[in-house]
Amino acid sequence: MTDSVARPKFVADHMLGSLARWLRMMGYDTIYDKSLDDPDIIKLARAESRFVITRDKELAKEPGAILLESEDLDLQLKAVAEKHGLKHSDEFIRCSACNGELLDLPKDQAKGVVPEGAFLGNEKFWKCSRCGKVYWKGTHWNGITARLKSLNLA
Ligand SMILES: [Zn+2]
Repeated sequence: MTDSVARPKFVADHMLGSLARWLRMMGYDTIYDKSLDDPDIIKLARAESRFVITRDKELAKEPGAILLESEDLDLQLKAVAEKHGLKHSDEFIRCSACNGELLDLPKDQAKGVVPEGAFLGNEKFWKCSRCGKVYWKGTHWNGITARLKSLNLA
């Protein structure tokens, strides 16, 4: 997949926690850390070739930065997605909590870790390589996909 090489990476400013989680759920590597100040964000963006996403006009002067005018999450997601041609794909999900990569978790290892209903109702599970959070395609997942579909992003 040539497209995996060119997948854009982002660093979101401290106002954009929800947006960062959604970008991660869409599979895009997005740093969001409230302890970063503006110079840290710029340094990270340059060092790791990340696009700055910000609500701040000063920070938006960084080349390639995306200035978001709206506080509305749907509009923010659409703005970033349109600029970079982002699409949701099952293959590229990341941990919404910490931005870690998700690894396949064999079903037998999910037993006792996930709720009984989730264990019985699913064949595929993923575990975050960084924080250990376990994922499966449950109701929450379907809600995410439905919302992305309604925005034309899935
Ligand atoms: Zn994680």
